[in-house]
Amino acid sequence: MLNCIGVITSGGDSPGMNAAARAVVRTALFEGIEVWGIQNGYRGILDDEMFKMERKDVSDIIQRGGTFLGTARCRRFMTPEGRAEAAAKLKEKGIEGLCVIGGDGSLRGASLLSAEQHIPIVGIPGTIDNDVWGSDYTIGCDTAANTIIDAINKLRDTASAHRRVVVVEVMGRKCGWLALTAGISGGAEYILVPEEEFDLDQISSEISEAYKKGKRYILVVVAEGAGSAVEIGKTIHEKTEIDTRVTVLGHIQRGGTPTIIDRVKASQLGEKAALALISGLTDLVFGFHKGSVVSINLHDAVTNKKILDKELFRLAKVLA
Ligand code: ADP
Repeated sequence: MLNCIGVITSGGDSPGMNAAARAVVRTALFEGIEVWGIQNGYRGILDDEMFKMERKDVSDIIQRGGTFLGTARCRRFMTPEGRAEAAAKLKEKGIEGLCVIGGDGSLRGASLLSAEQHIPIVGIPGTIDNDVWGSDYTIGCDTAANTIIDAINKLRDTASAHRRVVVVEVMGRKCGWLALTAGISGGAEYILVPEEEFDLDQISSEISEAYKKGKRYILVVVAEGAGSAVEIGKTIHEKTEIDTRVTVLGHIQRGGTPTIIDRVKASQLGEKAALALISGLTDLVFGFHKGSVVSINLHDAVTNKKILDKELFRLAKVLA
């Protein structure tokens, strides 16, 4: 049993991180365990930005995007010396284990902290990219997909009015989940992801044919890892001579009030992660598999690459 734990958000922020941190804090307090909030990611450990939390410290945050703890990218933590210093700082405060909410980079750092410094760690995948191995879901992916759909709906209206090709670039780093999910629900004709090869010559000739048959507009969703939407849009325009517009959605996808799905799932993961950590477990990541909360080995989560759902990709092609 641990008597004092810390909660930290690290790396890219995502909507729902607040709900997860709130769940960790309130679960710990419910169990009579001391809990500290660490500000600004791993940098906050090294810079002593750590505060003992009470119930009211996590009031009024479940509905907010971003992270009330702040997040950061910290180079010092990338070195063994930095991680040793971080372990010493945690010990100074009496923090015996950490709940880390973040993406694959943050979880990789957490795994090293555990291996080298024997600090118990439980991870919660927090990233809009939904790219953490072992979990069908990461906190924020639902809100981000909804933000993209909102933009796609608007772009469809104007594309149809002008008979344009619209190319939308979405986030996801090396993972095509956001593009695939938003593309299917937005009715995209083409979804370009890093996991699947595509042929712009063929796509362009298909677009030309479709326009000849009276198609009013074409929607192409591009995952950032599949290439630059600007370049792809330029190529399609050059090959088809059809008016083509490119929209790069950018950081708007990171923000906004979290959806109900992100709030509930983040709360579930926060509770399970806190309970596991308190009870002395370590090196686990809590995620979802087929709708249920599951725990995954932390090392496995950060060393394996998540595979895009081929079945969903096939469906997208059938329905396009
Ligand atoms: P995300 O968690 O969203 O993937 P990053 O990859 O930027 O974001 O990681 C966030 C922070 O986690 C980094 O700034 C660094 O402090 C730590 N980190 C990332 N990768 C590693 C690594 N390989 N070793 C140690 N720490 C890491």
